Amino acid sequence: MWFNLPDCNKCKTPDLTWDQTYHENTGQWRLYDPGKEQPHNCPVKEVSKPVPVKMTVCPKCNPLTRKPMSAKKLQDHIKKEHIDWVEE
Ligand SMILES: [Zn+2]
Ligand SMILES: [Zn+2]
Repeated sequence: MWFNLPDCNKCKTPDLTWDQTYHENTGQWRLYDPGKEQPHNCPVKEVSKPVPVKMTVCPKCNPLTRKPMSAKKLQDHIKKEHIDWVEE
């Protein structure tokens, strides 16, 4: 039972459905075009999304108190806090 038939939020094609079989097989949702009886093949190119920043922890800090930070921050952090420690 679906609340609303989804539109593709990229190309605005209406009256799509969610591909439930695909979801059951893969755990992911994709749009299905019942008019064409095939998965919605979006003509709009995927806008490149900002890549989620990979978080990492400082290998030199106390494992109990250290906090995840981005790799970029970690570099700065190591330069600042662990200046004597050089990665091989
Ligand atoms: Zn689309
Ligand atoms: Zn550290």
